Amino acid sequence: MTPTQIRSIPFFDYPHLFSSEERDLTAIFRDVGLRGAFILQEDLVRFERNLAAYLGVKYALGVGNATDGLLLALRAAGIGPGDEVIFCSHTMVATAAAIHFSGATPVPVECSEDHLIDVGAVEKAVTPRTRAILPTQLNGRTADMETLVFIAKTHSLVIIEDAAQALGSRLQGRAAGTFGTAGVFSFFPAKTLGCLGDGGAVVTNDGDIYESLVQLRDHGRGSGGEIVSWGFNSRLDNLQAAILDFHLGSYDRTIERRRALAGIYRNRLRAIGQVKLPPGPQDEADHFDVFQNYEIEAERRDELRAFLKIHHIGSALPWGGKAVHQWPRLGFSTRLPLTERVFERALLLPLNLSLNEDDVHHICNTIQDFFRLG
Ligand SMILES: *Cc1c(COP(=O)(O)O)cnc(C)c1O
Repeated sequence: MTPTQIRSIPFFDYPHLFSSEERDLTAIFRDVGLRGAFILQEDLVRFERNLAAYLGVKYALGVGNATDGLLLALRAAGIGPGDEVIFCSHTMVATAAAIHFSGATPVPVECSEDHLIDVGAVEKAVTPRTRAILPTQLNGRTADMETLVFIAKTHSLVIIEDAAQALGSRLQGRAAGTFGTAGVFSFFPAKTLGCLGDGGAVVTNDGDIYESLVQLRDHGRGSGGEIVSWGFNSRLDNLQAAILDFHLGSYDRTIERRRALAGIYRNRLRAIGQVKLPPGPQDEADHFDVFQNYEIEAERRDELRAFLKIHHIGSALPWGGKAVHQWPRLGFSTRLPLTERVFERALLLPLNLSLNEDDVHHICNTIQDFFRLG
């Protein structure tokens, strides 16, 4: 590369989502548009069927977004005022907001070494009012569900998984989102399976939960259109479902590609003492991670971030720089020192399908330069 060519790598390249598939997407718009198939049509049904088959679960239901999906799942499980729901504070605020708007009390706990929910902290946080655990399958990795399922059984708790970042992630061969009463996925454009707007799904093996969800997402309507309960409007757009079904067709390749890029980061950065990396794609027999994000911990994190920016490389702080319990306006009084320490060091590096291998090597070279020069 000559010095006059500046390589610029944004943290996420939204236009690429459309431009890389313009012909296919335009054909889908035309097809759906000419059929006038906008709400609750066959494309949605087909996507729901294919998603359920992909995950090995009985039911999948498209909803407006994952935040709604979490709220609907909590409501369908009968969780509400007076109940406590345990969640890991290293998550999107949406996880806690869904608990809040269900009427229950969100109870934040620490994350562990891999940044996912600390199961020991969950056990300690259980009180007589605890009704549910809502683990986040963060960054495309599945939490220690074996222990969480055991804790849930012991205390008669419900598990609802925030698997918004973890479609296709597996633990001992079992898919994230399928361990508890319900699991929730997001199809926000930047997620591993993205659409061109908002979208989400709730999956479950429980027929009663499924029936409640069907009603809750569509104004409380029963199968004949009669109103059988109070409901919301949170349907996955049929057009987005058609796009998602198209993306699901090549999803295995998407994941392979993300894992390959994560493997390059791992190999190139592992020798740097000042950074801590997530486990590599081949490092653990039990885990199959899909790398929604590549979240590292770094010494002098803010300086590193500024150095990357000077070199036209985008990066991001997880959740805007704070764990959920650290936003003062949300009213939590908890201190979670381990999580707070992670948030002083955590940094998200670019990981998406607009990157090629050279881009990732370039990012790694730049990080090596930073620590060598500094
Ligand atoms: C993206 C995300 C959500 C919210 O998803 P939406 O579809 O945007 O509502 C919730 N939890 C986690 C962990 C997420 O990453």
